[in-house]
Amino acid sequence: MNKTPLLEELSRRPLVCDGAMGTQLMARGLASGACGMTWNLDRPGDVGGIHLAYRNAGCDLITTNSFGGTRFALALHGLEARVTELNRAAARVARAAGGDNSWVLGDVGPFGDFLEPVGDVTADELRAAFQAQIAALLEGGADAILVETMSDPAEAIVGVEAAKACNPKIPVIVTYSFQKTGGEFRTMMGTSAADAMRRAIAAGADIVGTNCGTDLSLDDYVKLAGQLVAAAGKTPVIVQPNAGSPHMENGETIYKATPEEMAATATRLLAAGVCIIGGCCGTTPALLAAMSRAVKNIKTPV
Ligand SMILES: [Zn+2]
Repeated sequence: MNKTPLLEELSRRPLVCDGAMGTQLMARGLASGACGMTWNLDRPGDVGGIHLAYRNAGCDLITTNSFGGTRFALALHGLEARVTELNRAAARVARAAGGDNSWVLGDVGPFGDFLEPVGDVTADELRAAFQAQIAALLEGGADAILVETMSDPAEAIVGVEAAKACNPKIPVIVTYSFQKTGGEFRTMMGTSAADAMRRAIAAGADIVGTNCGTDLSLDDYVKLAGQLVAAAGKTPVIVQPNAGSPHMENGETIYKATPEEMAATATRLLAAGVCIIGGCCGTTPALLAAMSRAVKNIKTPV
């Protein structure tokens, strides 16, 4: 375990989180649409290699390979009976790759459907599912829980409750994905940036912010960051942008932001008051290395 608690370290300096996992797994041979979580057990060297690449890029926070780790999301691959072993392995692999000077974030993504009354799943059922996943992530050595890519504050709140039920002292991070609707940043469910922050904080989230997003430019993330920081008050804010807004090329989604653009964005996010900077879709260890140098104010050798 890391010696300094995450929130204590965060009060001293800004931290750098890691970047995309899925595309890195695919670059190592994971078939599109296949479950990447089985690699935590079957190919831990590949998953650990990705963590290590981000670690070597200067990332302080390492995110476990467990985005689709609830029983609901694993059921899409017929793996719902393996929640505990796959999530525990995810945290163990990250812990081993991260070493003593990084913090492991146990990653919890959306369960993949809507809560009642829109969908069929009750808050109690979801809480139990999140709790099973989070308990395994903590057992495997996660230092904090990251409830990410949220659209519905109600789901994010259940995620916070589940984490705090497992261990009331564990730091919980909540990040939402936003899009621009009528010129305003809103989640897919229509929640405003300010409302999304307020509800997560009221539920007990220790760090709040945004990851991913739909068709947001790097300028958009900086503008959104200002709104999140204003809404979050004293609560630290994390921003994990995509590598710019994507382009379609031959049916493929391509992210084109350069290391220089991502580094400049990281500097602007810091100036906006963001405390943790990382990356989402399209980001790589090379882009995170440039962002990390910017956050840590390290000049690139000429
Ligand atoms: Zn993303």
